[in-house]
Amino acid sequence: MSDPLLRVEGVWKTYQAQPVLRGVDLDVAAHEVVCLIGASGSGKSTLLRCVNVLETVDDGAVFLEGEDITDPGADPDEVRKRIGMVFQSYNLFPHMSVLDNITLAPVRVHKRSRAEAVEQARELLDRFGLADKAAEYPDRLSGGQQQRVAIIRAMAGRPSLLLLDEVTSALDPELVTEVMGIIRELKDAGMTMVLATHEMGFARDIADTVCFLHDGVLLERGPAEQIFAEPAEPRTREFLRRVLASRRL
Ligand code: ADP
Ligand code: MG
Repeated sequence: MSDPLLRVEGVWKTYQAQPVLRGVDLDVAAHEVVCLIGASGSGKSTLLRCVNVLETVDDGAVFLEGEDITDPGADPDEVRKRIGMVFQSYNLFPHMSVLDNITLAPVRVHKRSRAEAVEQARELLDRFGLADKAAEYPDRLSGGQQQRVAIIRAMAGRPSLLLLDEVTSALDPELVTEVMGIIRELKDAGMTMVLATHEMGFARDIADTVCFLHDGVLLERGPAEQIFAEPAEPRTREFLRRVLASRRL
């Protein structure tokens, strides 16, 4: 088997003497989609932030394409050129047009020509049904459109890995589907992704592998079908029962 694209190895993270990640191991193969599920506070965002080197790990290591990105000698800016990350709150720059939001990093960080960056941005906007929004400012877009722009912006750096942290959580229910649609398209195009989500139906549909986090421990992992149909761990079963029950209210 070839090396995984991402390897998280024995990662510990502690905040104020409180362990939040307790020896997490996770391999993600190229083109694989991994969904992180688990209760609020279980450590999903912290894990994504450690992968994106927004946090330093207290123990263990994270390897991206074989390189130890948690090594003190690794340059976080260089690492982040290869990873795209999208948050719940889209964090678009309000004073910039959609096009400028998308071309900023390719031009400033990746040192591409403005013409090349604009061409690529227009291609992406076109592909994801937002071609007519290029000149708009973010506050003129719906939440779903803003989040789609945020995903396009993350893709504009041509990352080898995309991290998505609860990207549909802030959206009105009728806007969730359009954001899921873009993630589905990226999966079909072979993008490697790790996403934290509360949307169990979506996780079941899109994930190759589902990982259940509980109190900072990656308690169970497996193919989506298996985790949702016959989870091995009682805690996974209990979590799924609770989440599904709350959805039916
Ligand atoms: P999740 O994304 O699964 O809801 P988080 O990774 O956000 O979980 O949080 C895990 C735990 O770490 C929570 O108890 C949270 O309060 C704590 N935590 C997260 N970030 C910080 C921080 N910067 N400082 C202190 N505690 C934090
Ligand atoms: Mg979170």
